[in-house]
Parts: sequence; structure tokens; C-alpha cells
Amino acid sequence: MEFDLIQRYFQRPFDALLKKHQAKVPVGIGDDCAALRVPDDQLLYVSTDTLVSGVHFFEDENPFWVGWKALACNLSDLAASGAEPLGFTLSISLPQADHVWLTGFSEGLLACAQQYECPLVGGDTTGTGRYAGLSVTIGVMGVAPKGHHGFHRSRAQQGDTVWVSGVPGLARLGLLLAFQARGQLTHFLSAEHIEPVSAVLQSVPIALAERAQQALQRPEPKLQLAKQLRGFAHAAIDLSDGLSGDVRHLSKGSGVEIHIYQEALAKLWLTVWPTVCQEHLNTLCDMACVGGDDFELCWTAPPGEDLREVLHGAGCLTQVIGHVHAVGASVMLKDSSGRVWPMGTNSYNHFSG
Ligand code: ADP
Ligand code: MG
Repeated sequence: MEFDLIQRYFQRPFDALLKKHQAKVPVGIGDDCAALRVPDDQLLYVSTDTLVSGVHFFEDENPFWVGWKALACNLSDLAASGAEPLGFTLSISLPQADHVWLTGFSEGLLACAQQYECPLVGGDTTGTGRYAGLSVTIGVMGVAPKGHHGFHRSRAQQGDTVWVSGVPGLARLGLLLAFQARGQLTHFLSAEHIEPVSAVLQSVPIALAERAQQALQRPEPKLQLAKQLRGFAHAAIDLSDGLSGDVRHLSKGSGVEIHIYQEALAKLWLTVWPTVCQEHLNTLCDMACVGGDDFELCWTAPPGEDLREVLHGAGCLTQVIGHVHAVGASVMLKDSSGRVWPMGTNSYNHFSG
């Protein structure tokens, strides 16, 4: 049965993509090991991420988007290192063989793999028994030229400008809408946030609500942007746990104090909701600080016009949101009057409460 499943959902549907990339992956699914070719002048980049049903996605989530997202969030890690996809492995643990679910999952996974040219090279398939949950672990491999320094978190420098792609917090808005649709908003929010958040959700324009839902379900790893940032960015990170927590990694990694401009975050929200009132805008800016799952990029680069020109053709929204202020290890929010205060540490933490 296990071999049937592997063949039906993971070998056959992905075969054409694997063949297309045969030069890079001479041995794929079906043998004890896959074999991948890393060119002499390139370095291998490896990352892995797990999605657990009920934790990282709703149990009733459309399996197509579970498949898409499982790969997309791994590819986002490659993007954050400036690497290009080579291939990925899939380990899947299933309570039972649900063929409707597996069909959707396999199709979504394939759609993402095709879009970003990343063949499935192997994996593992196990049954968990009825009482354990479903989980998906993907390991992704990528390459980048040996001269490229990998955008390490330790490379931010004093005087650098801090940039983001997209609208940080958009996926969190999508998540809040999803909880609301399920009548579970109060389980997710602490008491003081219920009122302001509900007010935002009630007045959010339909087009923005759809965009937010897409941001949550269908993240687009910024691989192309990352490639364009080579030679420009010092440090980079992908936004998976929330802007404040993720920027903190850059700050700690590099031993620097980073200032994030509140006005810049507001400006980003205004691009997607131009008529929003000030009160809602404040709530949305809070969402931008703590919301996870955006899978956008945040990077630091020396100030200069060259990068602006490059980004002009990047095909995605990019904006300066702050700067690397001084030596230190903190992240501060700064308002238009120049007042600074510590940016909240309340980004998503699996082991809190
Ligand atoms: P082994 O016992 O040697 O680990 P398996 O029976 O686990 O082999 O897997 C057989 C082949 O199918 C291997 O090449 C493995 O990489 C591949 N495979 C198993 N599960 C998956 C999966 N979910 N996705 C892709 N390839 C898989
Ligand atoms: Mg195995």
C-alpha cells in the first residue's frame, strides 16, 4: 500500500519535472538515495521545515494549498539565503490514506514545484495510526555561487538601510479572517485585542480580504528578488515568525540596534487600503509587527540608488522600513516625531501558552 501511495501521488505526477531537471538530479525517486549534482563553482544550501495539521494549517484547509505552502515556505528559506532551488524531499506522516486529501495535496505541491522549478527527489511515507496528527516535513536543497556570502544574519552593518518586500502582516490579516469565518476569533486573540481587531475585520474591503487570504494560503517565495539582491544585500531573513521577531534575529546576529519606522509600515498598509482610518491603521501596524507566515524578505543593504534601480524591475512591492542605527542588540520602533521605543517581542512562539 505504501508503495502504491508513493507511486500514485509522489512519483508519477512529479516524473516529468524530474526528467526536465535530469542534468541536476541524475537519480531521483525509487532508489535508496537520490543523487544531485552541485556544480564546482557552487555551494549547496539546505533547509527543512515541518507543517503540522491544526498547528500550521487548519485541519479543514484545502489540501491543494497545504501542498503549495509546504514547499513554498521551504523555498522561502532558500530565497533568504540567495540560493536557487535544486530539489526537495518530502516526508509525510498520515493517520490514514485519505485519497481525496492526498490528490489535492499532491496537486498543490506539484503546482508549486513547477512554478519554482524544484523537482521532488525522494522522501519517506509513514502511517501514524488513527490517533496521531498529519505532518509534512520538506527538506529543500539549493545552490548559489561560491563567491556569494549567503546573506547571513550576522552581516548587517551600521548605516545599512532595512528593506522588506510585500506588506508584512497581510498573512496575519488572512489568518484572523479565517478564524473569524470559523467563529474562533476569541480563541485566538487575547481579550484586549478582540474589539479593535473585530472592528478592522468588519470594515476590511473585499478585495483586500481576498488578498490577505491568498497571502496566508498561497505564499510566493521571493526567489527571483533574492537573486537580484546578490551583490547588494548584506543580511537577509524571510518573514516567517513576524517582523519584530525576525528583525530581532538580524539585530542579535549582527550585534546591531535596528530602527523600524512606524510610518513606513503604515505607508505599506495604505498601498493596499488607501481609505483606512487612523485607528484601524494602528491595529494593522501592530499586525505587521507580530504577524507570521508572510514569507516575504527583509534585508539590509548599504544606502544607494543602484539597489533602487534593480528593485524597480523586481516585479514586487519593496520598501525601506528602517535602518541599522548603531552597535547594540535591539529593535526599536520609531514614529514620525523621532520617538523610539522597543518593538514588541510578541511574535509567534510555539512554546508560549
Ligand atoms: P527505503 O526503505 O529505502 O527508505 P522507501 O520505501 O521509504 O525506501 O521509499 C522508496 C522510494 O520512494 C525512495 O526512493 C524514497 O525516496 C521515495 N519516497 C518515499 N516516500 C516518498 C514521498 N513522500 N515523496 C517522494 N518520494 C518518496
Ligand atoms: Mg524510507
